[in-house]
Amino acid sequence: MRSRIKSILAREILDSRGNPTVACRVTLTSGASAEAKVPSGASTGIYEALELRDGGKRYGGQGVQKAVANINKEISPVLLGMESARHEEIDDVMKELDGTPNKSKLGANALLAVSLGTAQALAIHRRLPLWKSLRQTFNFVKPAALPIPTMNVLNGGAHADWVLDVQECMIVPRQRRMAERVRAGAEVFHVLKKLLKERGAVTSVGDEGGFAPRLENVEAAFDLLVAAIKKAGYKPGKEVALATDVAASELYDHKTKTYIFRAENNREFTVAALLERYQTWQEKYPLIFIEDPFDQDDWAAWKKCVPVLKKKSILVGDDFFVTNVKRLERGIQEKAATAILIKLNQIGTVSETVDAIAMAHHAKFAVAVSHRSGETADTFIADLATACGAEYIKTGSLSRSERVEKYNRLMEIEREMER
Ligand code: PGA
Ligand code: ZN
Repeated sequence: MRSRIKSILAREILDSRGNPTVACRVTLTSGASAEAKVPSGASTGIYEALELRDGGKRYGGQGVQKAVANINKEISPVLLGMESARHEEIDDVMKELDGTPNKSKLGANALLAVSLGTAQALAIHRRLPLWKSLRQTFNFVKPAALPIPTMNVLNGGAHADWVLDVQECMIVPRQRRMAERVRAGAEVFHVLKKLLKERGAVTSVGDEGGFAPRLENVEAAFDLLVAAIKKAGYKPGKEVALATDVAASELYDHKTKTYIFRAENNREFTVAALLERYQTWQEKYPLIFIEDPFDQDDWAAWKKCVPVLKKKSILVGDDFFVTNVKRLERGIQEKAATAILIKLNQIGTVSETVDAIAMAHHAKFAVAVSHRSGETADTFIADLATACGAEYIKTGSLSRSERVEKYNRLMEIEREMER
């Protein structure tokens, strides 16, 4: 009785890039109350649910007053009085109210703000850490566990003015404890900064807090990371491995059907040539995680790469699956990947996100819960990743508070799990 929705109040705030995004406070009849904040991508997949923007002059068209009004005027009246623990029902009501396949009427940013706020208010009502409360609300396939972080310490692509062709070069600390993983990540990050300075390279950071120097090619980026890992006193591979998000949809040229590496003098790669290059990366580096190696529509390329690359790396669909069970189902059937990246705002509700995670885990796909390049102080993904037993979490570099707060929360969860 006391955990029904009493009020829902949204407002427009800014994300880490200074663009508007949606925040939403959900208050329950018990008085428990929480405000959720929605992230926003830059290299957005074409199959993602729609992020509603106002257009016009305000904020260069990026305002979210329409999404905010949709929450306060359309969604709120319908949800008031609903039991917050029946989260799927709440999400279903919102989906019906929207009525479109990609949430384009009310906006996925509007729906997600309400969905996240509800889960957070309920956890407060239950006096439980969020990850524990999520486990009470939803059925997860796997037990709760802290994820391995993939830390984006070298930023490229759309996140850093194309200084590097792959969007993200990540380090993956695999220590036993989360606090040790964070420590290893931060130590390598600081050594990397020194190595960049020694070369006279810039040490300013990109959108996700990683360095964004101009390097001659992707191999140079991996070489630097391996050097930094060693110099920080860790064993490359065993203790700290590597990961990359190629974000290949951003490189794909639909006319010529090739992948163009513009930072490498517009070097063109056919699918076969790119696959070969990935193989050389696998031979040379401890690369355990390759995200979006091919375009979001290039199913043939994905299917071709899985048998070749899957032994050494998981093949992670981000723009390829967009946290959507329909696309994931096809990917599982056609063996077109071995893992899924999970982004709440690609699909727009917590329930649907949990469905995608469950489908992946049932199929023995690995799960990587992810932030967006435009983030906020909201740390929901740290709790979600733990609650579902995600194998990985991708939440940026070891700088900028909107990234680091997720690591800080993971270390706090580690303590909560030990109690
Ligand atoms: P995005 O980038 O948030 O800009 O889409 C993150 C990613 O591609 O993984
Ligand atoms: Zn990605």
